[in-house]
Amino acid sequence: MSVGRGLAAALLMGLAGSAPAAEPATVTLERLDCGTVFVPDLDFLSDSFRFSGQSRMVAVSCYLIREGARWFLWDTGLPLSRLGAGKLSVGGGKAQLRRSLIDQLKDRGIDPHTITLVGLSHDHSDHSGQAASFPWATLMIGAEDMAVVRGTGAAFNLDRAEFAPWTQGGGKVDEVTGDRDVFGDGKVIMLATPGHTPGHHSLLVRLASGPVILTGDLWHFREQREVHGVPKINTSRAETLASMDRIEQVAANLHARMVIGHEMRDVDEAAPGTP
Ligand SMILES: [Zn+2]
Repeated sequence: MSVGRGLAAALLMGLAGSAPAAEPATVTLERLDCGTVFVPDLDFLSDSFRFSGQSRMVAVSCYLIREGARWFLWDTGLPLSRLGAGKLSVGGGKAQLRRSLIDQLKDRGIDPHTITLVGLSHDHSDHSGQAASFPWATLMIGAEDMAVVRGTGAAFNLDRAEFAPWTQGGGKVDEVTGDRDVFGDGKVIMLATPGHTPGHHSLLVRLASGPVILTGDLWHFREQREVHGVPKINTSRAETLASMDRIEQVAANLHARMVIGHEMRDVDEAAPGTP
């Protein structure tokens, strides 16, 4: 609230003897650097051999979303074991985390305990890698992914230890079925986009500057979106294509900006800051 508006509100309160109507809360979005991965062969990212033999550096992104006093962390990036240069990762790639999420929050003067909600696009370890750094937070994750986490079967790119605060430590889990309006006012909505994993979600964030869709791993980079490329590692080809179709329609109808989480060229796009 500006000084002028604050003064006007104070005058109104004095004259009318009642508080002014609350201003609608503004949502802000900030990208946090959750690492990079050099992928020497993108073969696993297309079940039709579209990217076989190609290599690429990809970004790993986490997002800090704030609405008034409420903070929501979306994805927790690479694990702390990747701190430092060039550790071996999935597919022989090299993964690097430069600074932990906790340290990045402290850099910004934010007490990590302020983050009481941690949402995950899915259970893979490049998206849930530092979840255990926030054991006090309520974990929001697709119910179908949480079932995989709680299971004992083999699962691709899953480190169950990151979920120990919620599977063994008594932490609160909010298992999300379908879509979920995170704050209950339509500004931040988890959109069910299964296919990469059974409980995968993308996130719609309605900023004052316009809506943004954080796609998660519905796509990994721009060319994959252009050719409707379905990764070999996905749990359902049919669900993936249906989810891609859904999000394309959402983006068209809302005139939303699409931010592909692993796309290096979208890193700046994903940091609009305070509108
Ligand atoms: Zn990923």
